[in-house]
Order: sequence, then structure tokens, then C-alpha cells
Amino acid sequence: MAFDFEQIKQTMVSAGKEVSEKAKEASSIAKLKLDIHTKEEFLTKQYAELGKAFYQAHKNEDVPERSFFATIAEAEEELDRLNNELMDLQGAVRCPKCGSKQSDDNVFCNQCGTNLNWKNPEYENFEEIIHGENVSEGNSQL
Ligand SMILES: [Zn+2]
Repeated sequence: MAFDFEQIKQTMVSAGKEVSEKAKEASSIAKLKLDIHTKEEFLTKQYAELGKAFYQAHKNEDVPERSFFATIAEAEEELDRLNNELMDLQGAVRCPKCGSKQSDDNVFCNQCGTNLNWKNPEYENFEEIIHGENVSEGNSQL
């Protein structure tokens, strides 16, 4: 049998082509997977935003989706409780105006916007309020 250089060359070329086609295929699979993943994450976020907006708008109404509301309300309460606990451990203060618990690095109350400056002359009894019941309770846990 004669050595057919042409045929070997052809085979090598087509094999090389096949490999690069496969590589291309693999890279487009990876890219597609990433694109799909990105788009899915985007959609999930959009659904969450939509759900949140829906919940805020209808939480006091008797809508068919009401079954979701109880679990969400429960989770929100638990989140409040955990945030409160964290604030206590971090030395929370109470707003002199509305009495809500505020993280000690808040400059303004996040509920009523009151300036939480300790030296604010408007609140002479601020110190008293700060060292009132709940805050000292929180500190004793440390
Ligand atoms: Zn306040």
C-alpha cells in the first residue's frame, strides 16, 4: 500500500477540525449555561421584587395568595427580633422622641428622623432615657 500523504493530511485536518468544533461547542455550552444561570438569577430577583410589592400592597386584603402572607409576616417578625437582639448586643440606644431602638452609630432615628446627637439640648433627659430599662438589660447580656 502506498503511503498516501494527502489522505493522512486530510484526516489530520478533519480531525483537527472536529476537535476545534468540539471545543467551540464546549465553550458555547459553558457560555450558554452561564447566560441561563444569569438570566435565571435575574428572573428570581424580579419575582422577589414583584412578590414584595404585591405583599406590601395587599397584606391586609383577603387575596387568594393570602396563604403566603402568614409565613412572610412570621419571618419578618423573627427578623425584627433578631435585629433587635443584635442591636442590644451592639449597645443600642432609644430614640428620645419615638422611643424606638436605634443602633448607636445611627445619627438620625430611622423611624422618625430625630437627631440622635447626645448633646442635643432639646433632650435634657436623653441620658435617662438611654439608660432606661431595655438598654441596660441588653448590656447585661455582654
Ligand atoms: Zn425616633
